[in-house]
Amino acid sequence: MRWANRFCKFMDIFNGEIMNKLSINKLVYSFGKGKADGRADMVDLLGGKGANLAEMTKLGIPVPSGFTITTEVCTHFYNNKTFPDCLIQDVEKAMTLTESDMGKLFGDENNPLLVSVRSGARQSMPGMMETVLNLGLTTKTIPGLIAKTKNRRFVYDAYRRLIMMYSDVVMEKAAGIEPKEGNGIRQQLEKLLDSYKAKNKYQSDLDMNGEDWNCISNRFKNHIKKKLNKTFPDDPYEQLWGGIQAVFQSWSGKRAIQYRRIEKIPDEWGTAVSVQAMVFGNTGSQSGTGVAFTRNPATGENKFYGEWLQNAQGEDVVAGVRTPHPINEDTKTKESKDLISLETFMPKIYTQLDKIRTKLEMHYNDMQDIEFTVENDCLWMLQTRSGKRTGTAAIQMAVDMVDVGLISKEDGVLRINPEQINDLLHPMLNKKEEKSAKVIARGLPAGPGGSIGQIVFSADEAERQANDGKKVILVRDETSPEDVHGMHVAEGVLTAKGGMTSHAALVARGWGKCCIVGCSALKIDFSKKEITVDNRILNEGDWISMNGSKGTVYEGQMSLQTVNPDSNKAYRQLMEWADNIRTLKVRTNADSPKDAQQAIAFGAEGIGLCRTEHMFFDPKRIMIMRKMILADNESDRRKAVMELLPFQREDFKGIFKAMNGKPVTIRLLDPPLHEFLSLSNKQIETLATELNVSIRKIKSRISDLHESNPMLGHRGCRLGVAYPEITEMQAQAIFEATAELTADGVMVYPEVMIPLVGTYTEFENQEKLVRNIAEKIKKENKIKFNYLVGTMIELPRACLTADEIAKNAEFFSFGTNDLTQTTYGFSRDDIGGFLPDYLNQNIISNDPFQSLDQNGVGQLIKIAVEKGRHVRSNIKIGICGEHGGDPDSINFFDSNGLDYVSCSPFRVPIARLAAAQATIKNKRFDSSDD
Ligand code: PEP
Ligand code: MG
Repeated sequence: MRWANRFCKFMDIFNGEIMNKLSINKLVYSFGKGKADGRADMVDLLGGKGANLAEMTKLGIPVPSGFTITTEVCTHFYNNKTFPDCLIQDVEKAMTLTESDMGKLFGDENNPLLVSVRSGARQSMPGMMETVLNLGLTTKTIPGLIAKTKNRRFVYDAYRRLIMMYSDVVMEKAAGIEPKEGNGIRQQLEKLLDSYKAKNKYQSDLDMNGEDWNCISNRFKNHIKKKLNKTFPDDPYEQLWGGIQAVFQSWSGKRAIQYRRIEKIPDEWGTAVSVQAMVFGNTGSQSGTGVAFTRNPATGENKFYGEWLQNAQGEDVVAGVRTPHPINEDTKTKESKDLISLETFMPKIYTQLDKIRTKLEMHYNDMQDIEFTVENDCLWMLQTRSGKRTGTAAIQMAVDMVDVGLISKEDGVLRINPEQINDLLHPMLNKKEEKSAKVIARGLPAGPGGSIGQIVFSADEAERQANDGKKVILVRDETSPEDVHGMHVAEGVLTAKGGMTSHAALVARGWGKCCIVGCSALKIDFSKKEITVDNRILNEGDWISMNGSKGTVYEGQMSLQTVNPDSNKAYRQLMEWADNIRTLKVRTNADSPKDAQQAIAFGAEGIGLCRTEHMFFDPKRIMIMRKMILADNESDRRKAVMELLPFQREDFKGIFKAMNGKPVTIRLLDPPLHEFLSLSNKQIETLATELNVSIRKIKSRISDLHESNPMLGHRGCRLGVAYPEITEMQAQAIFEATAELTADGVMVYPEVMIPLVGTYTEFENQEKLVRNIAEKIKKENKIKFNYLVGTMIELPRACLTADEIAKNAEFFSFGTNDLTQTTYGFSRDDIGGFLPDYLNQNIISNDPFQSLDQNGVGQLIKIAVEKGRHVRSNIKIGICGEHGGDPDSINFFDSNGLDYVSCSPFRVPIARLAAAQATIKNKRFDSSDD
C-alpha cells in the first residue's frame, strides 16, 4: 500500500465504513511493452479505447503503457456511490507496472511519470466525456522534469494546461458547480491568459516563454482558490484520484446524457477509464500530434486522410482551436495547399505511421480513426477505433473491401447502418440555383448534403427556434461537444475554425448532418450576433444555404432537390447484394401516382397501404368529403359519395399504372372524423352555401358528430358498417379502374383492405359488400381479374381472434400505429406530452411509435401470425405502420415470418438493406441454434 493510505485522506469515497465488500471481477487491466491483459473483443468491459489500446499493444504497435479501469467499476460507482475497496491496490499494482515499462516513477522528484486519464465507453461518444492530461505535475516534480527535459517552457506550459483542465473537469464540473454560460472556470482562466498576452503584446501562445507560463500558472492557482474556494492539489495521488473519479462522473454529465439519448446508448453501460503514461507532442519542433482516418471518412476513398499540428498537444487538434495541417500531400485541397504536411516535414515518421495504418486496417478489417503523437522524433499511438463516416463513405468502403476480399458480401451488407442510406437520399442544393449563386465563403466539407436555414449563434437558441418549427443553421466559431443538442436540431452546422477531425465534425458526420468547418472567412461577433464575410454583414435570422459535400456557403434561401441514389455505383452494387440476400419483401405506403413512382424508383415491390382518405385532402375534394360526412340521411350521403367516385377511379388508375402489375393494397376509408371537421367559421359558411342549408344546421351536425375520443370512435370499418354506400362506392372505383386497365392490357393486382377490424363479423359484413361489387363489375364488363380481400390487424382483439378472421381474410396487414396505441393505451396524438419524462426516467427506452415494442405489441403480432397461419397456411402477412421503415422492427418482422414490410417511399432503400441484414442475422442465429 504505497500510497493508498495517503490517498484515503483526500477522499471519503474509500472511507473505512463505506468501504464495501462487494466482490466483482478483475477491476484493472494493464497494457504496455507488447503485453496486455485485455483484447479488442473486450469492449463491453474496457470500453472501445481500453480494448483497442490493449489490442494495439499486443500487435507490437508503439503505445505508451498504462491500464484501464473497467466499466463494471463505473456501474458499481453509480450504484453504491463508492469504488470497490480493492480498487486502490489494483491501481497501485498497475501503476507499478506502468512505471517500470516507462522507466519513470509517478510523483518522483527526479524522474517523474506523468499520466493522462481518459474515458472510453463501449460505443464511441466523441468528446462527450472528460479527459485530464499531465497529472503528476506538482511543485515537487516540476524541477525534476525541467532538469530532465532541459525545457522549462514545455514543463510550465504542460502545468498550466493541467491546471486549466483539472479545475474545469474535477474542481468545477465533477463538484456539481454550474456556472453561467461562458463563465466557467476554464473560460475565466482563458481570459486571464488573453489579458496577460495583450499586456505583454504577445500575438500567440508561441510568444510565451517558460517564465511567462510559470507566472500564469501561479495566477491561475490564485484565481482558482479565490473563485472555487479550494486549493489546486499539489499531491500527485490526489490529482490522479480526482481525475479518475471526475472521468467516471462525466458519464452522467449533461452533454454525455444528451448524446446517449440521441444515439440510444443505454445508461447502464457506463464508461471505462484508461490511465496512460503521457507522451508529449509539444516538446519542440520535432514533436507534434495528429488524428487520422485510414480512409477518407467523407467520401470513402482509399487514401490515408488526416490532420496534424507541429509542437502541440492532442487537445489542440480535436478542439478545433487551430486549423490543422493535412497529413500528406495526396489529400491537400485548394485551401490547404500551402500548409506543411507530416509527410514532407517528418518523412520517416510518416512512413512508419502509414505502415501502422495498413496493419490496423488489415487487422480490424475496417476503417480506423487513429490518434498519434510524435515526441522528439518518436511515434506513439494513442488510440484506434472504428471511424465514423458518412453514408456515402460507408457504402464505398464496404463495397471496396468486399471487392478486394477483405470482408465477405454479408459483412459488407452488415457494415452499413441502414439509416446512413439517408445520406444518399439527402437533398442537395438545387443545381441550377447553385451554379448561378456567388460563394460567400468556403470551408471543409465535414457533413454531406445541402441545407438551408436561418442563422443562430448558440445551441440553446437553435433548440428554441427549431422547437418553434424554424429551420436554423447553427454558426459557431469552433465546434464543441457542448453544442450537441443544438447541432442535432439544426439543418446544418457552420464553423469558422476547426478541422475535419474536430469532435463536432465527427458527430455531425455520424448523423449525416450537413456541416462545414474551418470556414476562416467568417468573422463572427457573438456579442452583436453578426457575421462579417465577403464585405457584407449577416445577422441572426438571415437565411444562408450550404453545400456540405463541397464546403461552400451562399447567402439567401435556395431550394433543395432530391437526388437519385442510383447514380452512385457503389450504392447500386450494395443494394444488388442486399436484394439477393433478403427474403422479406419491401412495399411502400403511397396515396398518389407521384409517391408510387418515387417508391418504385427506390425499389418498392408493391404498395402495402394506400390511405384513401388522404386522397381527399385536396381543397377541391375535401368539400365533397365534408358533405358526405355531414349528410344526415342516406340519400344525401349517396349523392356526395357518388361525386367522389370519378376522382377515386382516376386516382386508382394512376396508381395501378405506376405500379404496373405489382400488388396494390387499397385500404377502405378510415378517416378519424375530427381530421375533416375542425372547420373555421369561414369554411362553415362556404359549406352551408354549397349544401344550401343554414349555418346553424351545419354547426349542429358537427356537434352531433363530435366524439370525445375520435381515435377510438366512428372510424375504420365502423364507418362502412353504418354507411355501406361508402364501401360500395370505393369498391366500385377500385374495380372499375381495374376492369378498364385490364381491358387495355395493363396488369393490375388490387388487394382491398378493411380497416380497424376487431371481430370476424365486421370483416364478413364489409367483405360481402366488396365481393358483390367486384363480381358485378366483372359481369358487366365481361372481364376477368384477380383481387384479394383482407384486413388490417390493428386492435388487440383482432390479434387474439386472428384464427376466426383468417377463415375469410386472404391477407393480414399489421397496422402497428393503432396496435401500439390500443395495446399501450397511449394516444398516438398526445404521447408527446409525457414521452420525454418516460424516456428521461428510463420508464421506456424508446418511443414505441417509432420502434416496435417487441415485448408487448410484438407478442400480439406473434399470436396473430400463428393463429392466422394455423387456419390459412398461405395467408399473406405484412405490416404497414410506421415501424415498417425502422431497422430494429424490421428485424423482428423478419424473424417472425412476415412476408413484407411497407413504409414511406424515402424509407424503402433503408428497409431493403435492413431486411437483408435481418436475413443474415436471423440465419446466423438459426445456424448457431442447431
Ligand atoms: C396503423 O394504424 O398502423 C396504420 C397504418 O393506419 P393509420 O396510421 O392510417 O391509422
Ligand atoms: Mg390504423
